This record gives sequence, structure tokens and C-alpha cells, in this order.
Amino acid sequence: MSYKEINCSTVNRHLKINRFLSVAIAVNLLIYSGLFIFSRVAVFSTTIIAGWIILLVYAVFSEFILNIVNNSSLNSQKASNSMFNLNIILTSLFLLLITFISGNKEYLFLSLIPIFQAILEKKPHFSGIIIGSTAACIVAADLTGWFNFYYLPANLAPVTSKLLAFLTVFGVLSNLGYVLAKTITLTQGKADYLHSIATTDALTGLLNRREFNLRISGEFSRAKRHKSPLSLALFDIDFFKKINDTHGHNAGDAILRELGKLISSNTRTCDIAARYGGEEFALILPETSQSKAYELMDRLRHLVETQLFNKTGRPIKATVSVGVAQLDLTDTSPLDFCERADKALYKAKEGGRNRVEKAPFGVPRIKIRSTGS
Ligand code: GH3
Ligand code: MG
Ligand code: MG
Repeated sequence: MSYKEINCSTVNRHLKINRFLSVAIAVNLLIYSGLFIFSRVAVFSTTIIAGWIILLVYAVFSEFILNIVNNSSLNSQKASNSMFNLNIILTSLFLLLITFISGNKEYLFLSLIPIFQAILEKKPHFSGIIIGSTAACIVAADLTGWFNFYYLPANLAPVTSKLLAFLTVFGVLSNLGYVLAKTITLTQGKADYLHSIATTDALTGLLNRREFNLRISGEFSRAKRHKSPLSLALFDIDFFKKINDTHGHNAGDAILRELGKLISSNTRTCDIAARYGGEEFALILPETSQSKAYELMDRLRHLVETQLFNKTGRPIKATVSVGVAQLDLTDTSPLDFCERADKALYKAKEGGRNRVEKAPFGVPRIKIRSTGS
């Protein structure tokens, strides 16, 4: 995965803070809407200021998260869009000017919002529309005198004022929704990342041993239940220690990486390839008979034999030995199955390496349905 090193516990902490603050904003807005609808006193403006303050605090914490996201490549879009930044600065200046002319302190908070939004958001257009329309509503309301509802008991406020107040609340809630969606995306991204590092081998990009164990168990049960053919190939690079000793550990790593790619590009999507151990690989082949598995593995063996591994500048030759087994009734567990493939691999090594050996079937053989493979 293209994720750079990331401190998951830090992200976790910030996500928790953000969730807490999101709830705080939502509760605040609910209270404020309730007061507006039901109260006979003008508490509206104090509450909205409290709402803005919480929103600002929220934005500051969100910035930490976005810094982390920026440092990783989860979200490759750069926050600094110069046009957007210019737009944000102008909007803020305009709102500041309005603050001084009108004497309405709400505008002061409003003027700060775009700046934080600029840091916070990656979707300038969306956030620009929300901020712009919210600000326009309030400015229009003030210029037309509809904003008087701030100083009136709520039940005396005209319908237009209530409508504008509704739009303001809608604007804030939309922003909140967007930020929450972003938080969820981040959480999902982190979960995907954690799943990826827990199941994949970092060097080859194939599945790791832990995931292999899970997959072989699943395929084992499935093949037994459906009486379908299942083959397993275990293979091991020949004299790999010597390759390491002669060409260095980095060259050895490069061969492992290239071999991983070779395996991925020469198998079906339903085949399950894993790094079984240091220089050992496993290939689970569902719906495949032993003879078909043998053919495939001999082709792969030949590909490796003829391939020149030269990622480190020096062409290096390598070969693999392979053991192939097909599931039969004597295999009472995935472990038995792996052991038979391993014995065949051992036989291939004994037999002179750079070869594929089939594991003999135990008796009785599993009666499988015909698949043509
Ligand atoms: P054989 O043909 O019998 O398999 O001989 P071999 O030398 O391949 O087998 P052996 O088990 O003696 O050595 C395996 C070597 O693989 C030793 C170990 O240093 C190397 N190895 C294991 N994992 C890695 C790795 O991730 N990178 C590199 N470069 N080498 C590794
Ligand atoms: Mg080896
Ligand atoms: Mg080995």
C-alpha cells in the first residue's frame, strides 16, 4: 500500500477528539434551534456565538488530522489551492469589514470560519458555496432589516427571518456533515490500511503466512463440502542462501519481490498466492486438479529458470523447487494437506532441485465432481 509511515494511535486520538467535538456542535445546534423555536427571549445570538467557538476549536483539531493525512498519501490532493486561498482571504476581509460597519460581533466569527475552512477542507468548491451562501444570507438579512429577529422574541420574528435562520443552521449542519463524512472516510482509510498491513507481506505484496492459514482453512472446508478439486503448491527458491552470500541481501530481496510479481501475473484471480516463509511461497489453487496444478507450476518454474533477475544492476539466475498436492480424503485438516505438499517439495529438492514433484494420493481418493480442469 502506498501509505507512508503513519502513527495510528495519533490518528485514533484525533479522531476521538473530533467525534466528541462533532457531537458537541450537534447538541449545541439542537439547543440553539430549540431556543429559537420555543423561547420568548432573545438568547439566539449568544448561543450561536458559542456554536461558532466550538466549530473553531473543532477546525483546529481537524487540522492536525489533515496534516497527518497530508503526510500520508491517503489523500494526495494538496490543501494549498492558490485561487481558493485568495478567495478565502477576500471573503474573510469582506466579513471583517462588515463586522466593523455593522457592529455585529457574529460576523467576526463568521470571518474566521473561511480561514479555518481553508485549512480544513480539501473540497474548496463545496465549502466555498456553503460559506458563501451562509454569509450572504446573514448579510442580506441585515441589510434588509430582517435580521432584527436577533433582538426580538422568537415568536415575533417575521417568516423571512425564520427562513434565513433556517438556512444559516442548514449551512452549519451541511458543513458539519461534510466534516463528519471526512472523518468517516479517514477512519475507513485507516481500517483498510490496517487490514492491508495485517494480511500482506510487505516485501512481495503477496498474502502473509497468517492470511494464508485463514485462506487454506476456508478453501479446505469449501472443497470438502462441495467435493470440488483443490490443489496446493509449495515452492522454495533453490540455494537462496548462496545467492544472498554472493550478491548481497538487497539483491536477494529484489529477487523475492520480482518473484512475487511473477507469481501474481501468472496466476488466476481466484488463485491465492502467499509468502509462506523466508524464500518459500504457497499457491492455493481452487477448482484445480493435481495434473493441472502440475502443468501450471512447471510453467512457472520454467519462467523463473529463464528469467534474469536484474533489479539491482547485476543479472542473477534463480530456480525454484515445487511440491504439488491435491486434497484427498486422508487430509483431515489443512495441516495434513500442507504437510503432503511439503513432502513433495522436499522430494523435489532431493531429486536435484529446479523441478516439480506431485504428492502421492493417500487412499481412499476423494470422489470429486468433474470440472474439466
Ligand atoms: P535450498 O535449495 O535447500 O532451499 O537452499 P537455500 O539456501 O535456499 O535454503 P536455506 O534454508 O539454507 O536458506 C534460506 C535463505 O533464505 C537463508 C535466509 O537468509 C534467506 N532469506 C530468508 N528470508 C529472506 C529475506 O526476506 N530476504 C533475503 N534477502 N533473504 C532471505
Ligand atoms: Mg531455498
Ligand atoms: Mg527454505
